[in-house]
Amino acid sequence: MKRNWRIVTAVTAFALLSPASPALADAPEVPGRPVDPRPSTEELRRHLEKIEKRSRGAVDVAAIGTTNQGRPIFNATVGRGPLRLMYVTQQHGDEPLGTPAALELLEDLGVRPGRDERAVLDGVTLSVVVRANPDGHELDQRYNHDPDADPEYGEPGVGYDPNRYHSPALAPEDNPVPEAAAVRRQYEAFDPHLMVDYHMQGRYIDDDGEEITASLMWPTNDGVGDGERDLSRQAVAVSARAMEDSYDGANASLYPGGTYEGIARNAYGLLGSGSVLVELSATGPDMEQAQIASAYDSMYALAESAADGSLFAVDPDSADDIPERGEPLPGGGQGQAQPFHVEGDDLD
Ligand SMILES: [Zn+2]
Repeated sequence: MKRNWRIVTAVTAFALLSPASPALADAPEVPGRPVDPRPSTEELRRHLEKIEKRSRGAVDVAAIGTTNQGRPIFNATVGRGPLRLMYVTQQHGDEPLGTPAALELLEDLGVRPGRDERAVLDGVTLSVVVRANPDGHELDQRYNHDPDADPEYGEPGVGYDPNRYHSPALAPEDNPVPEAAAVRRQYEAFDPHLMVDYHMQGRYIDDDGEEITASLMWPTNDGVGDGERDLSRQAVAVSARAMEDSYDGANASLYPGGTYEGIARNAYGLLGSGSVLVELSATGPDMEQAQIASAYDSMYALAESAADGSLFAVDPDSADDIPERGEPLPGGGQGQAQPFHVEGDDLD
């Protein structure tokens, strides 16, 4: 069982008949109870504690750091397998949808797992940093909260961009960003084979005018070893396929990210792991349940394919078959929570 709620698909005739306008799918129906796309950090804490308790010890929740506003940064660990996968959600506070997907995954794997889930747990151990930037979430901003910040990456008087402070050369004790330091410490302690970082991006269309619903990339820094890059590319291929299969109209592309070593995607590749960036497009309120489900499918497929070995049989070059991301959606982004955007958009 891939997930316990299934997508019923629907695409409007309008979208199919109007090549001039972007083909926007009607909201796919996601059976089952809708999940809260933006639980408060207090609700997140309560949900994690409930999962830990109901899992009878299978899920271990711990605070791995504290933000400048005093909020705990939570990690949850589940599984007993030899392959270690680490997922991170919501480094950018206003990119929320990976977090509810991680909660659903922890619940499905940790609380009364079925036979398929138990096979996954026999093969992998998962560490999930659930909402790396809780202050940013509460303030609905990309950056962490640091009024004293005068950062190279971030905004003076507002905060740092956590996803620019993972450089291998930057020790956690010297890191000015507690959120990035916490992720790095957990990385060092857990020593994952594969690291996957869940973000959100704006709205884009491909060359056929179809909306892009997710973009992915491997480490592109030149210092990353061949083995690490190959595993990253295998994981990109597996995740992109799972997300495209998640609902009708789901459409994955490559992400045009940069080579800077402080970006988690590059840093954890340089540090010796497979490393993947997943960006969910902010396709609007009606699509949020489907997007959460697609993030869940990415997370589940990576764990399942690592556990059964199929991940390592994927041709790394098949990642090159995923198309490039296209142009911004004209008029996209109105009336919805929109991830921060600037020209050039090299914004992992
Ligand atoms: Zn982001």
